[in-house]
Amino acid sequence: MNGEGPGISTSTQDLAAPVDWQRVREDFPLLHREVHGKPLVYFDSANTGQKPARVIAAMDDYYRRYAANVSRAVHTLGEQATRSYEGARDRLAAHLRVHRRDLVFTSGTTMAINLVAYSWALPRLRAGDAIVLTRMEHHANIVPWQLIAQRTGATIKVADISADGVLDLNALERLLTPEVKLLGVTHVSNVLGTINPVHEVCTLARKRGVITVVDGSQALPHLAVDIPAIGCDFYALTGHKMCGPTGTGALWARREHLDAMPPFFGGGEMIREVRFEGTVFNDPPHKFEAGTPNISGFIGLGAAVDYLDALGMANVQAREGELLAHLTEEMRKIEGLRIIGNAPDKAAVVSFLIEGAHAHDLATLLDLEGVAVRSGHHCAHPLMAYFGVPATCRASLAFYNTHAEIERFIVALRKVRGLLG
Ligand code: PLP
Repeated sequence: MNGEGPGISTSTQDLAAPVDWQRVREDFPLLHREVHGKPLVYFDSANTGQKPARVIAAMDDYYRRYAANVSRAVHTLGEQATRSYEGARDRLAAHLRVHRRDLVFTSGTTMAINLVAYSWALPRLRAGDAIVLTRMEHHANIVPWQLIAQRTGATIKVADISADGVLDLNALERLLTPEVKLLGVTHVSNVLGTINPVHEVCTLARKRGVITVVDGSQALPHLAVDIPAIGCDFYALTGHKMCGPTGTGALWARREHLDAMPPFFGGGEMIREVRFEGTVFNDPPHKFEAGTPNISGFIGLGAAVDYLDALGMANVQAREGELLAHLTEEMRKIEGLRIIGNAPDKAAVVSFLIEGAHAHDLATLLDLEGVAVRSGHHCAHPLMAYFGVPATCRASLAFYNTHAEIERFIVALRKVRGLLG
């Protein structure tokens, strides 16, 4: 990262450095706009996060100064583009404490999980095998497994959660019978905010030879993620929730899996030699990256990783912990408001309902107050069914939000409750 870090006076990650959160907020141009004539309160970061100016500038710079394809051209622009694109892989790998060779760029978590499903699971699963998923998975970590189950004859078993939204580890352990070959678990629930004990879960699975797929979509924006410490087989992530551009993401996998997996897509970039008699594939990660990638997007993702590293994920976590405590305390004071997801270990995500009001009506009226929250099933139909609701409203925060915004949200919520009640 060049120059000064976001809101702090050093470019290195320094946990003791005091962060000027007001200055950090200045890094996000979009946060300064108005909606319906009122200053925006953006509480929808679990849906997609906002981007600091330097991420936008990094993408702009690529298109203005060195737009060229990667890995093909030997000319200066092509070399610069390749260096920036592969540099983003270096930075993301360092952020996750993994080797760059084991990090495949994808369009997001959805593609990352589908890559595991089609390249690892489809050739291996058989009738009689089972896949375990938790009840709090996003559809991106359910539907690909259903498609694989249909094609292989495998079945899906569901690990349950408590009414507070905590994964039941004893029940999960009991589910891990010999026919289970794969377990999918989200690191952080996009609906409940629950931070799952993924290290414990993966340890239980590993002891039984069960392959683990962790969905890290909602963890990367909030936590310092150390993949080797988790002990999973696969870790999927998406860039747009962690200050990066849409259409970026990655799959980390243990090297033995990437070496053994056939490619999911075929085409240019992923080969070493092509003859009509057969093709020799490139080494991972390029073996899984056919075609021209989202070059500017990954350059932006590299800048996003730099930004988060300079901020320090420990600082992010501490800041968001304070915001979450404030938000939860104030929301609990509102009569008739039900919070769905009360795990002791939570990221700054609060799903809620107000008695007698539909989630969409709530979100629409909040929008008129300048407040952006998401309403709906959050791509988690089975979780909605478990809680007996068709939809919830969800306020999801990031480090760039403020206590003043929480106060404004609470005032807006009380007003909307009055209108609907
Ligand atoms: N998993 C979780 C927990 C999510 O919250 C999301 C996005 O909302 C996804 C997966 C899918 O991510 P993407 O649409 O970026 O592939």
